[in-house]
Amino acid sequence: MTEKLSTAQREQTIADNLRFIEARIGEAAEKSGRTRSDIRLMAVTKTVEPVFINHAIACGVDLIGENKVQEFLGKQPYLKLDHVEAHLIGHLQTNKVRQIVPYVSMIQSVDSLKLAKEIDKQCEKIGKTMDCLIEVNIAGEESKTGLPPEELEGLLAEMAQMPHVRVRGLMTIPPICDENEKLCGYFQKMHAMFVDIGRKNIDNISMQILSMGMSSDYALAIECGANLVRIGSSIFGPRLY
Ligand SMILES: *Cc1c(COP(=O)(O)O)cnc(C)c1O
Repeated sequence: MTEKLSTAQREQTIADNLRFIEARIGEAAEKSGRTRSDIRLMAVTKTVEPVFINHAIACGVDLIGENKVQEFLGKQPYLKLDHVEAHLIGHLQTNKVRQIVPYVSMIQSVDSLKLAKEIDKQCEKIGKTMDCLIEVNIAGEESKTGLPPEELEGLLAEMAQMPHVRVRGLMTIPPICDENEKLCGYFQKMHAMFVDIGRKNIDNISMQILSMGMSSDYALAIECGANLVRIGSSIFGPRLY
């Protein structure tokens, strides 16, 4: 039985959830020899109404992530983003790049040369350099977005030449998996690539951000080396669609 919560009740729940998550992030960071301040929390705001996004911001959230261009552009005018960064985290079609680039400070879902080229082109037009993460399909799942790991070096070499994009790290969405050991294996593989590439000191490519971990697995992801976690339903409640 679920009763519809009032706005005030939902706001209270969001505040409570954020406090709980803050504490868990801190614990996971310490387990991996870091502190809370080494980890960035992104509130994933897809399907969430602006009133609740603004409440999360009032509670201290300073980074939000949306996965659909149209939805974000529709909500953007109602959001209090003065001290907040917004990133695109969902699959991006090249024909939507022009619309989104003015409104986000990072695109976490770059997974093809074609997309990278379009971001570079559209950012040149508006005099911007876009921070990007490469989304890696770490388990090589057929049906999924993300770049196969074996294509990573090739894409980085191309992107290193693009003046209006700046690669800042890697992102992944691992397969749904209820065995922590297996999941941790995927996260560790990502972390190893992140470290390896970082050591290569490629021009215009820096490995500062490792974005992995969502509501169900963020503590594990941090323990395995993530430094940015993307959390939606554990903050805002289950999505209705
Ligand atoms: C929806 C989404 C999330 C957050 O998922 P939750 O399980 O609700 O925390 C994280 N990353 C991406 C790319 C998403 O689309």
